[in-house]
Amino acid sequence: MFMHSEADIKKVKRVQFGILGPDEIKAMSVMQPDGVTSDRTFDNGKPVQGGLMDPRLGSIDRYINCATCGMDHNECPGHFGHIELAKPMYHVSFLENTMKAARRPSRRPPPPRREK
Ligand SMILES: [Zn+2]
Repeated sequence: MFMHSEADIKKVKRVQFGILGPDEIKAMSVMQPDGVTSDRTFDNGKPVQGGLMDPRLGSIDRYINCATCGMDHNECPGHFGHIELAKPMYHVSFLENTMKAARRPSRRPPPPRREK
């Protein structure tokens, strides 16, 4: 649960959604430089550095504070990490739209205008 903020309330004028590219994801990752590198999650009950529960990603344990912001599991919003894959992969959430785009005929540029 987040604490109440005294900051001024602003009216949202515009919201834009998009898909981040690999370089943007890596730049936002707190798991520099290699991302998730361990197949181990916990060792003796403690999160493994470089694992899926790396303490830099945030804390889900009330006795361990986040290694990125230092807040406890109630205050830390969680932080981005990344996993380097051996080959490019389609994100399963985007698969339907990816298939629609792949099946759509490509658009050719319009023919050049004839001079009169
Ligand atoms: Zn944090």
